[in-house]
Amino acid sequence: MKKVSVQCRNIRLAYGSTEVLKNVNLDIEPGEFFALLGPSGSGKSTLLRLIVGFNKHQHGELLVDGRDIGQQEPWDRNIGMVFQSYALWPHLSVWDNVAFGLVERKVDKATLKTKVAAALELVGLSAFGERKPNQLSGGQQQRVALARTIVIEPQVLLLDEPLSNLDKTLRVQMRQELLALQRRLGITTIFVTHDQEEAMTTADRMAVLDQGVVQQVGTPAELYDEPVNAFVANFVGTMNMLEAKVRSQHANNLVLDVTGVGEMTIPVSPTASQLYVKDQHVQLSFRPHTVTVETKPAPADERTIGMQGTVEASEFMGQLTRYRVRVGTQSLSVDQAHYAGLSKWPVGTPLNLRLAPSQIRLFAA
Ligand code: ADP
Repeated sequence: MKKVSVQCRNIRLAYGSTEVLKNVNLDIEPGEFFALLGPSGSGKSTLLRLIVGFNKHQHGELLVDGRDIGQQEPWDRNIGMVFQSYALWPHLSVWDNVAFGLVERKVDKATLKTKVAAALELVGLSAFGERKPNQLSGGQQQRVALARTIVIEPQVLLLDEPLSNLDKTLRVQMRQELLALQRRLGITTIFVTHDQEEAMTTADRMAVLDQGVVQQVGTPAELYDEPVNAFVANFVGTMNMLEAKVRSQHANNLVLDVTGVGEMTIPVSPTASQLYVKDQHVQLSFRPHTVTVETKPAPADERTIGMQGTVEASEFMGQLTRYRVRVGTQSLSVDQAHYAGLSKWPVGTPLNLRLAPSQIRLFAA
């Protein structure tokens, strides 16, 4: 099957006077596994429903394989969608659920039999054709919903929170299955999730949406390492955020007044330095695992930024312990890798924190 691209060009959609999608531009590559990530209410489902044709945008273009399909009815678009609830027919067998779309398309009996068998085989449910949906586990129902969608050989596959009804273990297993299936079929797939881990572990690229605006598009690593704003930085992974004000600006560094912490000198390139002016408010951010922690005083090191703090609280997470560390009047998250035999630092333990400037991101506040 030909792999197709999906492009949104300046798409705007409003429900009454409430604008829900605000000038959305996206370029999804042929065969890509693309995630739409964002908090509840950010417009993810609205965009997905717009691509399948249940919602109509008021402005812009929706191109599939370069052709504007914005005016086509859902049944004329060759796009398959798996719903969060699976939407299986409870009174029909697994086989008949999967066959449904082909029967509607009046496919001849022999072809129907071959295609349904192939789709069930693909999702590993060949032995379950006779069962009713309520005789299946959540993961199996999910696979029936997938088989029912891919049996009609859509050019584009849309998945709306496909794993949210499954428990954690099954979710992790199913997301790998889903990706393997997508790779076998090579079908351009767009999936909606509010779960950043799900998006990061599976997507080739992803878009982060907030209040109907695409904040950033990129690979999971790009969004994690180089978030363009504080929203993306906080939404993709965990981030420490500190309010600061530019005290002075030099060719190769910025001197910041960090609220509740004190003065901090951040090396920046001359080009980056020009982006800031005295007294400007900024947000300084870094990931909890990028902080090096010592209980003993560490020798001064000009390549890193030092901070002194005390343990306020801790959470044991298995592979790591996440400490809340009080620095001045601020509270920071700091991760320490955990190994068998390593005991937690008790509340009140004084800590020396060191941070490499390369791990700091500054955002205009
Ligand atoms: P998400 O999928 O990211 O949770 P949605 O696309 O479902 O977000 O919703 C985006 C916004 O549009 C929300 O504020 C929601 O309340 C609103 N909305 C969704 N559907 C409708 C509708 N049919 N009529 C009016 N407002 C709607």
